[in-house]
Amino acid sequence: MQARKGKLANAQILLNLLWGLFSLVLLLIVFYFVGQKERLQTQQSLILAADEVADKIDNLVVGILQSIYAVLDTNFKDCNAKLVSSFQHIVFNNPNVSAIIIKDKNNTTMCGTLTHGTSSIISSNQNLILYGPIQFSAKDKPTFILQQRVGDKYLQVFILKEVLEKALVPTSRIAQWVGLYNIPQQKVVLQILRDFTNHEWKSDTANLQEVLHQPEAASLLKMNLNLNNFQVILLGDAKIIRKYSLYYELVALSFLVLIALAMYYYLQRAIHKHFSLHRALEIGIKNNDFFPMYQPIFNINTKTFCGAEILLRWRTDDQDIIMPDLFISDAEESGLILPITLQLIEKTFQESKSILNKYPDFHLAFNVSAVHFVKEEFLTLFYALCKKYQIPADNLMLEITERDLLHQEEATIAQRIQELRAADFSVAVDDFGTGHASISYLQHFAFNYLKIDQLFVGAIGTGAITETLNKSIIQMAKNLQLNIIAEGVESFEQQEFLKEHGVNLMQGWYYAKAMSIEELIQFMQGVHHEQKG
Ligand code: C2E
Ligand code: CA
Ligand code: CA
Repeated sequence: MQARKGKLANAQILLNLLWGLFSLVLLLIVFYFVGQKERLQTQQSLILAADEVADKIDNLVVGILQSIYAVLDTNFKDCNAKLVSSFQHIVFNNPNVSAIIIKDKNNTTMCGTLTHGTSSIISSNQNLILYGPIQFSAKDKPTFILQQRVGDKYLQVFILKEVLEKALVPTSRIAQWVGLYNIPQQKVVLQILRDFTNHEWKSDTANLQEVLHQPEAASLLKMNLNLNNFQVILLGDAKIIRKYSLYYELVALSFLVLIALAMYYYLQRAIHKHFSLHRALEIGIKNNDFFPMYQPIFNINTKTFCGAEILLRWRTDDQDIIMPDLFISDAEESGLILPITLQLIEKTFQESKSILNKYPDFHLAFNVSAVHFVKEEFLTLFYALCKKYQIPADNLMLEITERDLLHQEEATIAQRIQELRAADFSVAVDDFGTGHASISYLQHFAFNYLKIDQLFVGAIGTGAITETLNKSIIQMAKNLQLNIIAEGVESFEQQEFLKEHGVNLMQGWYYAKAMSIEELIQFMQGVHHEQKG
């Protein structure tokens, strides 16, 4: 028992270590994957935000061009008053368009809404380009020019910088900075920044090269536009990204704590189960660790030892011998008492053959409980063992305590006892006097032996109230026509008292303690019994 506690403590330490290590490894793995996921998620959010901005810019451009193509013939040759009026109409109604002009390839304005301050055409092999910002005069707002080639002419649409800036504003909270990047020029031509204090977007004048070299540049994303040579560049807001990460990490951590706690709980349960008495008994059964000890019973009339009670012992792995009181009630509760008793009976049969051969009247008494009678298979297996080892029924006795008779399946127990008696086995009511069963009650059971409990035998000569009960118990047994065995006889005085009152069968340390089969064989050959009486 002590050794088991030590093992449990060691296992506990090992379990705590393993659990700690496992939790740590799990923590690292989970955080690694959460980190990966976060990066992916951030990337995804950045892509979505940049995509949204790119779409807005593209839609803005397409929208403007469509409104112009609605009034402009693709085979445009010459300007006329109607076209100019249509252009003016567009400029007037569309807040995104500030001016529209058409130039020929020599940069001569052919047609348009502007009377002053036109820009030169940009020679490019691309059909559609955007350039700027251009500020024509101090009074004019900075403007971008969208240039589309139409045959051998050039259509130029003036778009205010602030219009494009507005289109650059993303709805996603992840962006902190958005810019329009000119690829061939390798420079940002337009950029807006979210204000830290009021979160509003404003025009930014910072040098992008600086921004690009900041650590946050990891959250920088470029998105191509339909507009040739341009890209939308978007920089994530490090603070917002960190906030998202923290959220994911907290969720992961909570899950992890839950998993770790659940794991701890189940490991604890498993370990306690493993080291429980129940588990130890199971292992004991498997390892054949249960064995019999024999306490001889003395017949005072014939002055011989006429039988022995089989007392159960359990030898553990550490060679400790465990007494039945420590485990019988657990074994009965769990039902493990059945295989234990069968193991005990088989071992007894195997080793006591020589005793029974030499002393044919010798009886072996086994202790059984209500469980043995309620479960039908026990008696079947018991009979099978008797047959296998050829042990006659009249050499065998089963003892059942008086308390066990008060079991709810009393009728079944009575029936089994009847069955045993009919087959010539002896059945004794054990610990008689401790169960408060009345004579009329005991009459239901077909016992042929009664064992007076050592409590009463021990009281002989002490003057205690229990001493007086011996006479009435003996009287009761005689009325029931039962053979009486007195248990726990420790002195000559007790023996004399019992003998005087007609008790012939004695069991107790006065004669012998429980012993092994080898000791029993020697004991029977010896002279001890001749000196008694
Ligand atoms: P029990 O059936 O009343 O067994 C007699 C107990 O009294 C034994 O203790 C025995 O060693 C002890 N004893 C015998 N003579 C004397 C004596 O002169 N003085 C004193 N003070 N004690 C004496 P043990 O072996 O520790 O067994 C205790 C109990 O365990 C048994 O009481 C019985 O109820 C149970 N038990 C033992 N073997 C088995 C078994 O195979 N199956 C079941 N179900 N119970 C068993
Ligand atoms: Ca007994
Ligand atoms: Ca007893």
